[in-house]
Amino acid sequence: MQVLILGSGVIGTSVAYYLARAGHEVTVLERQPAPALETSFGNAGEVSPGYSAPWAGPGVPVKAIKWMLMQHSPLVVKPMLDPAMWRWGLSMLRNCTQARYELNKGRMVRLAEYSRDCLKALRADTGIQYDERMQGTLQLFRTQQQLDGTAKDVEVLKASGVPYQVLDREGCLPYEPALAAVKEKFVGGLRLPGDETGDCFKFTQALARLAEAAGVTFRFGVNIQAIEHDAAKGVTAVRTDKGKFTADRYVVALGSYSPALVRPLGIDLPVYPVKGFSITVPITDADGAPESTVMDETFKVAVTRLGDRIRVGGTAQLSGFDLALNPRRRDTLEHVVTDLFPKGGNVRDASFWTGLRPMTPDGTPVVGATRIPNLMLSTGHGTLGWTMAAGTGRVMADLIAGKAPEIDMEGLTVARYGG
Ligand SMILES: Cc1cc2nc3c(=O)[nH]c(=O)nc-3n(C[C@H](O)[C@H](O)[C@H](O)COP(=O)(O)OP(=O)(O)OC[C@H]3O[C@@H](n4cnc5c(N)ncnc54)[C@H](O)[C@@H]3O)c2cc1C
Repeated sequence: MQVLILGSGVIGTSVAYYLARAGHEVTVLERQPAPALETSFGNAGEVSPGYSAPWAGPGVPVKAIKWMLMQHSPLVVKPMLDPAMWRWGLSMLRNCTQARYELNKGRMVRLAEYSRDCLKALRADTGIQYDERMQGTLQLFRTQQQLDGTAKDVEVLKASGVPYQVLDREGCLPYEPALAAVKEKFVGGLRLPGDETGDCFKFTQALARLAEAAGVTFRFGVNIQAIEHDAAKGVTAVRTDKGKFTADRYVVALGSYSPALVRPLGIDLPVYPVKGFSITVPITDADGAPESTVMDETFKVAVTRLGDRIRVGGTAQLSGFDLALNPRRRDTLEHVVTDLFPKGGNVRDASFWTGLRPMTPDGTPVVGATRIPNLMLSTGHGTLGWTMAAGTGRVMADLIAGKAPEIDMEGLTVARYGG
């Protein structure tokens, strides 16, 4: 079957790889000159099924107000006259009940756990390398109140069968020895030994090469302008600045830019860009750097070892599609990494980056069929697109081949929004 994939981030590229392996004729359209140059470029590097949870949860509205008042705030909202932003925000608030949280988390964990298994199998099959490490992740608590507050998370982890360790201050040090130098700054942590880390950009680029070797055609520098359709045939072509492209099936994997292209087809996709920032610091003293990911719970900033670099990522900013690099966000990231790993690297040599997380209000991505038979969606992966990429690719390849995916698709498609 001929399949056209729109977008070559980690999601579109993963879908392309699995489809090619299943014997389909695949073309990928991408506006950038190479894969993974937008949101999949500089993320925090966590492959973290253990942390797969929606941002919308009980108590979050009150916490959000507190966060916005902090000096190094994890949440920034730019008041704008953007109806899509307000609609998305209201829908997120409606998802802040205990019942919705559990439902949404269950859906996310289902895909994220499956995705980690797919990633392991992919590594074993291909030997793909991307500065990967399999040393778990550590959520670090600076206050006793945060440590005591893990009880609720632990219940959820137990119920989902996710392995975990609650650690006191000394207990964290064997996993992250560099923290010994600053141990008065925290009281303990929650470790998820099953989590992994790695460079999403390197992974996507390497996977694109494997996909190409398996027969995928990548068309870079192609700006997608519209998806043409008619009532009888469904999608008939994709219009771009380089002409029209046609196929038997079409997969939209355009991250935050997906809703605008499917809206004219009558699909209302509540995916909104949630801006985040990262810095990448060259390591100067390996003993002073993190071993894996340390997630600072106070500032919601993740500090990850990626080969000879430290990636520091965080902040959720609602400001539409603006990609400006705000120096205040950089200050927060520098503050966290120099506070916890003062000897690891010199932040003056860091590069600064921003990307737009394609977020749904319920945290769960939108993967699979639409009511247009030859159109499928793979977007809305929000904070966890790197974590969920391999599983998404595998599920999409199975669906397109007409096979039942290995996980239940309940609650993962656009049908949950009536789309
Ligand atoms: C600061 C930050 C930290 C993060 N940390 C983590 C983490 O630790 N773990 C994790 O799992 N996830 C993390 N994420 C989330 C993760 O990076 C995203 O979910 C993921 O990259 C989304 O991938 P995607 O392929 O859907 O989107 P993208 O990577 O944005 O890909 C979409 C592609 O579509 C192309 N495109 C868009 N419009 C057009 C058009 N009109 N024509 C042609 N091409 C077009 C774009 O160029 C782009 O390449 C983080 C995100 C941020 C911002």
